[in-house]
Amino acid sequence: MIKEIEVKSALSKSGLRELDYSLNPYLGCRFSCTYCYARYFSPKEVGDRWGEVILVKKNLLEVLRKEVKVKRKGVVGISTVTDPYQPVEKDFELTRKSLELLLENGFRVSIQTKSPLVLRDLDILTRYRERVDVGMTVTTMNPEEARQVEPLAPLPQARIETLKRLKESGVQVWMFLGPVIPGHNFLGVLEEAGKIGVRVIYDVLNYYPGLPFRPVPRNTWKVLEDQIRRRCEELRVQCHSEQEDWIYETKRRYNTLF
Ligand code: SF4
Repeated sequence: MIKEIEVKSALSKSGLRELDYSLNPYLGCRFSCTYCYARYFSPKEVGDRWGEVILVKKNLLEVLRKEVKVKRKGVVGISTVTDPYQPVEKDFELTRKSLELLLENGFRVSIQTKSPLVLRDLDILTRYRERVDVGMTVTTMNPEEARQVEPLAPLPQARIETLKRLKESGVQVWMFLGPVIPGHNFLGVLEEAGKIGVRVIYDVLNYYPGLPFRPVPRNTWKVLEDQIRRRCEELRVQCHSEQEDWIYETKRRYNTLF
């Protein structure tokens, strides 16, 4: 069910260290990942029926047009509690139009998605390639495992192809391996990252009561992390955990990338 709502603000102060603001054109996400904890940060009707109810911020562009003139320039994450290129974006184009507004007005944008629909906006992404990057989330290369945990998201191979196209077009890209799910083919994801030549950010499976997972014990995570680190070294893939990411972002912003 798609419902249109009105909002008072477009850019929210981000709780993530590497972002100044977050912008979520929609609330709820059709991709319906079972591990997604965005449901706990969404309105009740969305969280209770995760994947079934999508709220579209119908006056978002009107509000954003005013905010970009008065808010301090900074890095905007699109999106943090929804996928900005989920199916509803095909009709409403709020992500595309927000992207244009932000970049035209001097903001920097960091996109994170699982969808090849991002390629529709290649014209904008290449025009502003200095100030925009795209992260693609891939948790496993096994399509059956992906279907279990990301039932309505595009399959992993489609995401890899998208990342390749973006990179070949000169867009700054990265891969998000998260959450790392014990028993899934996450090492295969690193191999694909090695072939494309992208850096990887990985993250532990965060546990929230109500999610169909048990928390990953600390010593299990240590073993998984060692495997990831080792494979990255073998493949010469630059990889770091989400917790370290702010160091990378800070350096990048000041052009002292290691
Ligand atoms: S694509 Fe992202 S926002 Fe959407 S359900 Fe999956 S994890 Fe949540």
